[in-house]
Amino acid sequence: MQRFIDPSHPCHIQSDIDTFAEDELEELQTHNLRRYPTTTSSPPRERITIDGREYLLMCSNNYLGLANDPRLAEAAASAASEWGTSASASRLVSGTTTLHQTLERRLAKLTNRPDCVLFSSGYLANVGTISSLVGMGDWIISDALNHASIIDGCRLSKAGIRTFEHGDAGACEKEVLEARDAGGKILIVTESVFSMNGDMAPLAELASIADTHSAWLLVDEAHSIGLLGKGAGAVAEAQLTDKVDVIIGTAAKALGAAGGFVAASEPVCEFLRNRARTYIFDTAPAPAVVGAAVAALDVIEAEPERAQNTLSLATRLASGLSGAGFNVLEPTGAIVPVILGASDTGLAVSEHLFQQGIFAPVIRPPSVPEGQARIRLCPMATHTEADIDHVVASFQQAQAAVA
Ligand code: PMP
Repeated sequence: MQRFIDPSHPCHIQSDIDTFAEDELEELQTHNLRRYPTTTSSPPRERITIDGREYLLMCSNNYLGLANDPRLAEAAASAASEWGTSASASRLVSGTTTLHQTLERRLAKLTNRPDCVLFSSGYLANVGTISSLVGMGDWIISDALNHASIIDGCRLSKAGIRTFEHGDAGACEKEVLEARDAGGKILIVTESVFSMNGDMAPLAELASIADTHSAWLLVDEAHSIGLLGKGAGAVAEAQLTDKVDVIIGTAAKALGAAGGFVAASEPVCEFLRNRARTYIFDTAPAPAVVGAAVAALDVIEAEPERAQNTLSLATRLASGLSGAGFNVLEPTGAIVPVILGASDTGLAVSEHLFQQGIFAPVIRPPSVPEGQARIRLCPMATHTEADIDHVVASFQQAQAAVA
């Protein structure tokens, strides 16, 4: 390995790996694409603290305000006391407690599926599930805007990947027909509410395509579990439960906890317990987050008005912003993206919002396509209408300031 002296480095040694990393960072900086985590010093409640100042939190996935709900914190603490702070083994070794099983049963019941498999995250659920269901010689038909965890699962599977234009069921069917001619199993994969667009997949059409052409359908409900369909998700709301083979979900968003899951038939779940590498080789989710997720399901059942509140605030926000001339995509859940175009425009707007006491960083490529930088706003059940109106007014001021 090439080494040379760098007088600025405390050890006076710099390897070529550091040079590589610095060059890459400089390149990102040049294109306004370098990102930094913002450090907060409060829970993800509707108002958070950054550097000692309070900001309205408009970008979290804590849609129902449960991540800072004392009932979940108590459930997490008591699960940690009862079960320990780590599961300390993978699910198939000694990492499955009755608490894990309780959550799996509750999630299966919520989604009205026969069985459920809990993973440590939604990311791992997507990667492990997709890569075990299909392989070499098979086909995945994937919406162009699917989440990175879906894309990584597709790549890992070694199946052929055919991408169809976002939300276009006709384009999906065309790919399915071509794949069918080539032979092999066919898996259609989509999100329901899309994470960066907030729009809804054409679920009924996709289900009918899968049905007609004997393809399987996997729907990632990360942004609708807990929020749509009385908490059961968009597939349930559209009465398509029987037509979707695999539902993926996460407890890290509306449920205010952590952990991912697959809800499916018993054979599919049992197959995944035996084949999904991200289930088999990963330490089981920590008892505290499992306890918190169970408590979240109780709250969601008892307080349906939370989801209603979030959804109506999202509608108010979207209509306020589009009335003010912003390019806002119609929300189908809690996600209201404001498309701003170039990364530097997005940065300037989010900087202005920050000065106005609103925390909503710009989302830039590679999280969204080139030239579609956006501010992804997410109202929470605990925001007020006055909060939402303040956001709309601040966007208008930002527009004037950056014009
Ligand atoms: N799927 C989608 C659509 C997502 O948006 C996310 C999170 N950003 C995930 C999966 C991953 O879920 P988790 O955060 O639980 O890993």
